[in-house]
Amino acid sequence: MTVGVLALQGDFREHAEVLRALGAEVELVRRPEELARVSGLVIPGGESSVMDKLSRTFGLAGPLRDAVRSGLPVYGTCAGLIMLADTVLDGIAGQQSIGGLDISVRRNAFGSQAESFETELDVPVLGAPPVHALFIRAPVVEVVGPRVRALARLADGRCVAVQQGNLLGTSFHPEITGEHRFHEHFLRMVSGAEAGGRAAS
Ligand code: GLN
Repeated sequence: MTVGVLALQGDFREHAEVLRALGAEVELVRRPEELARVSGLVIPGGESSVMDKLSRTFGLAGPLRDAVRSGLPVYGTCAGLIMLADTVLDGIAGQQSIGGLDISVRRNAFGSQAESFETELDVPVLGAPPVHALFIRAPVVEVVGPRVRALARLADGRCVAVQQGNLLGTSFHPEITGEHRFHEHFLRMVSGAEAGGRAAS
């Protein structure tokens, strides 16, 4: 199966490496023709306001919205999660998202004192052991819509991983810490969507 990685900006190379290690064909996506060839898409970490601007400049914003609406499986990490959120809090002026996930995310939610930190997270859908999660100027999911499943929460209850239909998002970066289980979970979502046709999320 061919899985795309949005390669406008951010840590797309790390995602491509994990996906290749798991046996997927990877297509770096910068143009609508490339997006049209993939069965699933990863949106990497980076800077969501820049990714938003570049996606509009490259004519990808509309095709990305259409792809999400038609049920393409998409996994976003950190800035990628922000891109998938229906509502972005503390965005820059005029910042837009692709949307699809019925959530509100707050950018840079941990402030300057905890810009980066690592912690162990229980993620029941992945089983044991806990996920060693790396947060870098990370967002949190402040509002989780009724059709959205919270997959992981910090000890204080704040939600940092979600799934809604074919959309998956994490505030943290499994692609950097050698944690492959989220990508495996995502590849199963992609296979399921290929086998069963795309379900609108
Ligand atoms: N703070 C960044 C943003 O708003 C996200 C950081 C990241 O992807 N590591 O997009």
